[in-house]
Amino acid sequence: MDHRTAESDLITATSPVTLYGEFTLSNNRKVRCSVTLTERDLVIHRLTSAPAGRNKTVWSLKDCVGCRAYREGDKADPAAYFAAYFYPLRRRWMSSGVSRQRVEQCFRLAALQDRHANLEEAEKWARAVRERAAVQQRLRDGVLLSELSRPCRMMLLVNPQSGKGQALTLYNSHVQRMLNEAGITHTLIITERQNHARELVREADLSQWDALVIMSGDGLLYEVINGLLERSDWEEAIKTPLGILPGGSGNALAASIHYYSGASPVSSEELLLSCGFQLCKGIVSRMDLVSIHLLSSPRLFSFLSLAWGFVADVDIESEKYRHVGAARFTVGTLVRLASLRIYKGKLAYLPAKKDRSSEEGCMKVRCTSQASSPNPASALCQLSGDSSCHNTFHNSCHSNNSLKARRTESTPSRSAIKRSPGPPNSLLPPLDKPVPGDWVVVQEEDFVLMLAMYQSHLAEDLLAAPGAGLDDGIIHLFYVKAGISRAALLRLFLAMEKGAHLATNCQHLVHRKVRALRLEPSSPRGMITVDGEVVEYGPVQAEVHRGLSRLISG
Ligand code: ADP
Ligand code: MG
Repeated sequence: MDHRTAESDLITATSPVTLYGEFTLSNNRKVRCSVTLTERDLVIHRLTSAPAGRNKTVWSLKDCVGCRAYREGDKADPAAYFAAYFYPLRRRWMSSGVSRQRVEQCFRLAALQDRHANLEEAEKWARAVRERAAVQQRLRDGVLLSELSRPCRMMLLVNPQSGKGQALTLYNSHVQRMLNEAGITHTLIITERQNHARELVREADLSQWDALVIMSGDGLLYEVINGLLERSDWEEAIKTPLGILPGGSGNALAASIHYYSGASPVSSEELLLSCGFQLCKGIVSRMDLVSIHLLSSPRLFSFLSLAWGFVADVDIESEKYRHVGAARFTVGTLVRLASLRIYKGKLAYLPAKKDRSSEEGCMKVRCTSQASSPNPASALCQLSGDSSCHNTFHNSCHSNNSLKARRTESTPSRSAIKRSPGPPNSLLPPLDKPVPGDWVVVQEEDFVLMLAMYQSHLAEDLLAAPGAGLDDGIIHLFYVKAGISRAALLRLFLAMEKGAHLATNCQHLVHRKVRALRLEPSSPRGMITVDGEVVEYGPVQAEVHRGLSRLISG
């Protein structure tokens, strides 16, 4: 969203005149239509004797991905054609929701004997449709959005092993056609092994590409982002627009992009059409990345999640149910619930500014209750009468001052942090030093899970952080304290399908908005995942880098 401009200026700068023509339908020459192209719509009237209302169709140019003019093989036929491709939201069959569905409108122009003149006329129409569709897309409420350069040269990386192994089939059945309709030239690269994409992107001549798009689950994008940030020219490289098409079993970022578009939830091929549509429209937004620091591995970058405990275990253990696609997480959750574990460790975080009031509130309740009652146990009893207070008390936390953290650590010494390509860290001390004084140390040390999310979805059907935004600079930190029953945990995951888990008032679930966090697991064995990929088990800390990358999303 780079510039603000008056909508009228932009419309006038392109072609303000309404185009009008009479053509026949390409697939039925007996049907004549009058076609009107306004700034916003393509309006088609069938010229038949039926009542006018039934013969009028209006297609919004906001739903149009492209338009092209062409001639058919028959040299004796002087006709030319233009076809416009729309993906409007339509009510789904047998369901209440809506999803994008493909509509092709193709017209035959044969008013003149000269085939060149007919083709010229068809090209004029195709150009006008494309231009106006682009203006409609770029303008939202008077705000001009930035978009992919055209013509666009796209590298499309497909992982043939992702999900049920169907990514290539989906590419052939949907993606190739959509990109052609949008006039996007792309080079298809089929990955051969893990880290293939990472190495490729690390070495690529990025001046050759306007966008890097992956078709897989989240794991392949994780490779691409880390490949870009391992380059010596990382600062420019990470500005390359990235795109994602769901082809895996964990399509969390694809589901998040769809959610941010405001459309009702969809899955599988409908999600693919939604993301494909947004890719063709080519609007580029900023996306937060989070740097992840581990004890002995190099720094990593993450766009989605950092998980420990229940969620990380489910993610990795459910690999063996990959053949069921996105449902693998549901199966994995049920299996893990049966053998629910407690994970021990220390958790600390730096609250996001807007969230600090809730922390202060937390401290205040603690202090007031202790002040008014010499007996902390009786304070707990008083508070537990009121469920909201009880919740606050249970989410108890210390300002780290009380843990004798050194205030001088507030500004971490950068020299102490291993410098590698990628942005410097401004919030994190070295892992072996105490956290700064303005951090909050969580009192509990027994957990069922810790989950840090920076986008809305944890999986296609798990809306873990409904309030998340693409580039808000916020990490949504969730943790579930030990003591939760299996039934309550299951209820949380079921509610998460609709993003309603926070409204369940579960007293074991805590949600904080943070900028940085540190986890020091003390259980000897366990799993930590970053964007669904296993990383070194041990102490880990993370810091958000607001809007560091670029993502093609509506
Ligand atoms: P899914 O959501 O189905 O797990 P991902 O995109 O997350 O799909 O990919 C899973 C893993 O496969 C990632 O670790 C990725 O790096 C790896 N990978 C990528 N290409 C290949 C390949 N050709 N063969 C095997 N593994 C691959
Ligand atoms: Mg975010």
